[in-house]
Amino acid sequence: MALLTDDFDLAGLRLSPGEGRRLELEVGIEPLVLGSELYAAEPARVPVLLDVSRMVGGGYALRVNFSARVAGPCMRCLKPASPLIDVEAREIDSPAGGEELSSPYVNGETLDLSAWARDAFALAMPLKVLCREDCRGLCPVCAADLNEAGPEHRHEAAPDPRWAKLRELRLD
Ligand SMILES: [Zn+2]
Ligand SMILES: [Zn+2]
Repeated sequence: MALLTDDFDLAGLRLSPGEGRRLELEVGIEPLVLGSELYAAEPARVPVLLDVSRMVGGGYALRVNFSARVAGPCMRCLKPASPLIDVEAREIDSPAGGEELSSPYVNGETLDLSAWARDAFALAMPLKVLCREDCRGLCPVCAADLNEAGPEHRHEAAPDPRWAKLRELRLD
């Protein structure tokens, strides 16, 4: 089993300029809060492929690749949802390149793989986490699950509250 890697020591690879290596690692991705709901990556230890290339001018070119599910309530019907997300992200960190070529995830020669994977995961997520692509959601009037209630589910036009009041009065 691969080692759980949250911080990765790039210098430890001892790559010569122009040399690269592919590593199979596992990373813990912290849950994300969207709206007021919690969305967790599954599995808890996500297998990732990390490509590290030492650039000729110094610094590193990095690529991370993984697939994970995001588990949480469907944003339409609130049932459990866990769509699969494919993630690919690249970073360049070159000490000679100034601000533009400096990666926020690389500090010295230490890569914060956990933070990078989490941000890349969040960016790759769909705008709406759904139990299925065509989830019909909840009825806006009675909150019935429209996936179960079926296409016939509908209501008479909502009664005017003033008429309801009037009916109450007549009953007296
Ligand atoms: Zn749903
Ligand atoms: Zn309804």
